[in-house]
Amino acid sequence: MNIIQLSIPTPFYVGDVNVYLIKDDPVTLIDVGPKTPEAAAALRQRLAANGLEFRDVKRIVLTHAHEDHCGLAKQVRDEAKNAEVLVHNWETGHLFGRLAREEHRRLILRSGVPAAVFDDMQGLYEEISLLTDSLADGDLTELRDEMELEFESGSLKVLHTPGHTPGSCSFVREANRTLICGDCVLKRITPNPIMSPDPIDPDRRFPSLAEYLVSLARLRAQKPTLAYGGHGEPVTDFEEIFNRYVRAIDERQKRVISLIEKEGSTAFEIALRLFPNSMGHDVHRFLAISESVAHLDYAHGEGKIELEMKEGVEVYRRR
Ligand SMILES: [Zn+2]
Ligand SMILES: [Zn+2]
Repeated sequence: MNIIQLSIPTPFYVGDVNVYLIKDDPVTLIDVGPKTPEAAAALRQRLAANGLEFRDVKRIVLTHAHEDHCGLAKQVRDEAKNAEVLVHNWETGHLFGRLAREEHRRLILRSGVPAAVFDDMQGLYEEISLLTDSLADGDLTELRDEMELEFESGSLKVLHTPGHTPGSCSFVREANRTLICGDCVLKRITPNPIMSPDPIDPDRRFPSLAEYLVSLARLRAQKPTLAYGGHGEPVTDFEEIFNRYVRAIDERQKRVISLIEKEGSTAFEIALRLFPNSMGHDVHRFLAISESVAHLDYAHGEGKIELEMKEGVEVYRRR
């Protein structure tokens, strides 16, 4: 089975996204790139270099529903006529521009983001929703943990690896222990556990960092020889990156806890102190808040800090 990495441009700071072409029967794309003319042209060109067109694609598999990964799914699917689109059903809350705004709003305001700042963040939702086309639920096939994606020359096993998003999935080729893992494992950056409503109970936040650590351990247990991420070059030394992530997460835990004031702090206040330079930019500000929330949730879950609701806002205190 030949896994071909195609680099596709995105308008995001992260840079290019990796799309993986499996040129086998059925011809499969894992992720497709954002819905921009540049990305569509690049994807067309990269496929042509492999002797293929959009209409040759038979299956589109999404690692997760972030716009830089899934945005072109509808366009490729429409041109490819009968291509199947597969995604985990925990992604549908954030799928194809159907970002659950009201649920998001509640979670964000609860984390201490002032209403004026939240209003200012609306532009982000508008802008990002332009980078993807909607597909109806009936157009999607559900990816399930442990299911096998069959090819003529072998199969890929689906691993549900929540954390970066609730429905993030990875794919393992067990024959040579190769992983395709979307944004779960990235060579140059520690992936963000993005703030999401819990897919089971949208009034709660998904415990993204706790879930992420479990997923990371599960990927490590595959003893991968090669891990293809959603951005950047593949990881050849999984142990090294695993240890680096665990160290980075541990250090950030300590730093987040140390930033909590005596009289208590909100996640938004911690984000301001942790990333003072990220607050002027929509995407970075959202990621900064997400990162603080994820660490505070994790610290609270581990019993390291206390949480109290004050006028509808979560206030954390050191023990
Ligand atoms: Zn992502
Ligand atoms: Zn990504």
